[in-house]
Amino acid sequence: MNNVISRVVANDLCIGCGMCAAVCPSHNLGIRLNQQGTYEPFLEKDQCDDKGNCLKVCPFNPFPEKKVATEDAILSTITKENDSPNYSKSFGGYNSLYVGYAKEYRREASSGGIATWLLKQLLKHKIVDKIIATIENDKDDSVFYKYTIIDTIEDINLTSKTKYYPMHIGDIARLIKGTNESYAIIGLPCTIKAIRLAQVSEPENWKTIKFCISIFCGGLKSTFFTEYLASKIDVRYDEIIKPEYRVKNINSTAGDYSFSCSKKGDDNTPLLLPMKKVGDMWGTGYFKPNPCDFCEDLSGELADISLGDAWIPPYNKDGAGHSLIITRTQFAEQLISTGMSAQQLICDGIHQKQASLSQEGNYNHRRVGLSYRLKWAKKRGDIIPPKRTRRIWIENPLKSKIFKLRQKLQKESTIFWIEERIEKGKNFEEKISKTKAELAYYTKIEHLFRKKYWIRKLIRK
Ligand SMILES: Cc1cc2nc3c(=O)[nH]c(=O)nc-3n(C[C@H](O)[C@H](O)[C@H](O)COP(=O)(O)OP(=O)(O)OC[C@H]3O[C@@H](n4cnc5c(N)ncnc54)[C@H](O)[C@@H]3O)c2cc1C
Ligand code: SF4
Ligand code: SF4
Repeated sequence: MNNVISRVVANDLCIGCGMCAAVCPSHNLGIRLNQQGTYEPFLEKDQCDDKGNCLKVCPFNPFPEKKVATEDAILSTITKENDSPNYSKSFGGYNSLYVGYAKEYRREASSGGIATWLLKQLLKHKIVDKIIATIENDKDDSVFYKYTIIDTIEDINLTSKTKYYPMHIGDIARLIKGTNESYAIIGLPCTIKAIRLAQVSEPENWKTIKFCISIFCGGLKSTFFTEYLASKIDVRYDEIIKPEYRVKNINSTAGDYSFSCSKKGDDNTPLLLPMKKVGDMWGTGYFKPNPCDFCEDLSGELADISLGDAWIPPYNKDGAGHSLIITRTQFAEQLISTGMSAQQLICDGIHQKQASLSQEGNYNHRRVGLSYRLKWAKKRGDIIPPKRTRRIWIENPLKSKIFKLRQKLQKESTIFWIEERIEKGKNFEEKISKTKAELAYYTKIEHLFRKKYWIRKLIRK
């Protein structure tokens, strides 16, 4: 069959964005959480028309048409004149780069609160009728966050903050398809890609989405990530209430944030887990789905504007948070400039090199790592969508070891957590410790070989 189940899910390439379900003409696809704690489509009835509409909008379609084969190809299909005149190999096409924050919203936000500010401007100035963003799920106490439609400026406050939690746009996209209202959406790069693909393949149905905001992405986390963090503060997976992933410490640095949640049956007091205590959750790839390792877009290259964290000095020294902002269209540029002139946004323009430096680790894993993973995937005969990154020919043995260990940890973390969940006391930490220690060892050695490591050490002295 020519559908996402046979081509994408069967090849372990589904990231669970949900867009395929919204375009299926026979309403044949549903979206549900799978056993690995991420979303994926399933056949609700056996009525596939075999035309592959679902594949055309899938960000991981292994056999896309040439005009939408990569982010660059899609960009040249959709870009208007004077938009994205500059190009960076880390971030794709763009107009300008800034680091800054929104005075009124950053305290309650994850980074600089630019997302919250932007969404409010879009409604306030009636640029769109409604916003599609993520909020707490009050309907089901086992699914913590979901996408929703928002039409009041006050309710935008409910959307703030990063959720390292899977969510899909399937239900919402079904509702807005072909309507006359106008929408703005905020999402991960793969979600924005799915929307752009839909706008290319079915323009009439999706012209309703007028503005796309992407947040940067270092990889999705399955629902197990939340369960794992909660377990560190003695909250069992079925006792978690209101998980929060980025509780700031404004008296410390930006990287010094905590996870928090309350425990069912307690008095709703949030329990805090400083993320520094847990160790590196990003470089190790714990609870990350496989497709993220074959995704090249770390910043949302197809959005009107992209927002991330400014992980560079002096901004990362400030625990209140700063956003890295990439405008990609003239209209987005105008919005940011207006906010700066009105003193609602405090921003500095930054150079491309500084911006790239702030996502160095993410870039290294995604692009350099991808050149290795593509080689290994080809050798195994895996089906992978077309990529801009080329396969490496001669491997650096240390890098090769590190990227392989990360893939191993990615898989082991999911398997061991499933075992931990089924039979408590299966001892996740003990089982994962060998691979984790090996990765730490080789990473340390690799750092010692880097010129930058020694320069930084000297500067610190
Ligand atoms: C899985 C994930 C990985 C990330 N990886 C990186 C990274 O590697 N580097 C980096 O610089 N930044 C990363 N970010 C983005 C960063 O954490 C901030 O979300 C972003 O900088 C926006 O900050 P803000 O203060 O402007 O947002 P706020 O004003 O706090 O608003 C947050 C907005 O993001 C939306 N949102 C939050 N979580 C999700 C989600 N899971 N899916 C869709 N929309 C969501 C909300 O609806 C809200 O509109 C990641 C975010 C996520 C969810
Ligand atoms: S469109 Fe999204 S949910 Fe559907 S198969 Fe592709 S990645 Fe998975
Ligand atoms: S790494 Fe890519 S595929 Fe994975 S969640 Fe982020 S944007 Fe989506």
